[in-house]
Amino acid sequence: MESTSVKKNFPIFIKHPELVYLDSAATALKPASVIAAVTNYYENISSNIARGIYPLAEQATTAFEQSRQTVATFLGAEQPEEIIFTAGTTASLNLAATFIASRLTRGDNLIITAAEHHSNLLPWKELAKTSQVELRILPIESDGRLTLESLNSLVDARTKGMIFSAVSNVLGIMNPVAELITRAKKINPDVLTVVDAAQAVGHFPVHVGTWDADFVAFSGHKLFGPTGIGVLYGKYALLTTFSPVAFGGGMVLDACAKETIYKDVPARFEAGTPHIAGAIGLGAAITFIESIGLTAIRSHEQNLIAYTLRRLTEEFGDTLRIIGSLDPEQRSGIISFVVEGIHPHDVAHLLGEKNICVRAGLQCAAPLHETLHLPATTRLSLSVYNTEDDIEKLIAGLKEIRTLFSLV
Ligand code: PMP
Repeated sequence: MESTSVKKNFPIFIKHPELVYLDSAATALKPASVIAAVTNYYENISSNIARGIYPLAEQATTAFEQSRQTVATFLGAEQPEEIIFTAGTTASLNLAATFIASRLTRGDNLIITAAEHHSNLLPWKELAKTSQVELRILPIESDGRLTLESLNSLVDARTKGMIFSAVSNVLGIMNPVAELITRAKKINPDVLTVVDAAQAVGHFPVHVGTWDADFVAFSGHKLFGPTGIGVLYGKYALLTTFSPVAFGGGMVLDACAKETIYKDVPARFEAGTPHIAGAIGLGAAITFIESIGLTAIRSHEQNLIAYTLRRLTEEFGDTLRIIGSLDPEQRSGIISFVVEGIHPHDVAHLLGEKNICVRAGLQCAAPLHETLHLPATTRLSLSVYNTEDDIEKLIAGLKEIRTLFSLV
């Protein structure tokens, strides 16, 4: 994969040729094909779905459902009905929490890890409170890996859910998803597993069947798609056991009957007019990813992560602390770090003045920072458009900042 030619697909670099975008874990840049698909919907189709019977409305419904099929194939789902369109990972995880709520009785427990994003912590924390169930925390090692052995003592007959991210948005470490699920189900086959795949999908091949996950959540905007669209994958037979959680148009067959009759899965979980342009844009984003190939994307990100880890260590030694394992094979395209003597917010702000975009703060993962005794971190995250030259600019920027703070 040649990043400089891939970069040509992203119109933002025309307006901002100097941009060094190292914040793709927050949201990825958008290729022209995705922008065109969204514009085409608004300019040439624009109609609502699953309602009108005139040609444009039918065209909209077909395009929307085609995207569902594209997502299903991309994830290795067994059928498109396993794909529920949502507003994003956060909405997907809240939906999964509402589903699991219906299975809980007082005194049950849910397992979650110490490294979750607030979007994959707070829905479960609230659920634990309202349903009076215990939230058990799977700990992490000092290098950021999950302590898998602890599962043996955490999972028991009252465990109703195990919830974890495929890749932490701070540590960038790729968790052994299939192994976690196998281990938990071996102890209790009824545990429902929820994978937050926000930082995984689009970075390396994800196959829900290989994972054997019950639910998988992700956002379109992190894989080159529009904001406001996301997915909750769920195993079909499992989804049919849950009642709708939001009510309105588009999800009902008979609203006059004494007992309302709802549509089948997944329409029963998609009340109201959905983000049609978003779903179509997500389909285009997946087509874009497939045109490069997930193996090529993974290899590019891994090589660039290896390069970045090496160069940061060479240039800054102990004065720049990298959080988590230094093994590039264990990492997706994310590195969080702390520059000794400079607050991460200052680092990000001053890099920003040089058009180098990184994230700083608690990164929506306050408990993880607390566990690692870190007041805050700076995060760089990579994608297909990043090059070694971007990393050299980052290093030059960091050197200047250290000089400014009289640390050299
Ligand atoms: N989980 C993880 C691991 C994330 O990185 C993010 C986004 N930073 C989310 C959940 C939430 O995603 P969204 O804001 O798109 O709903």
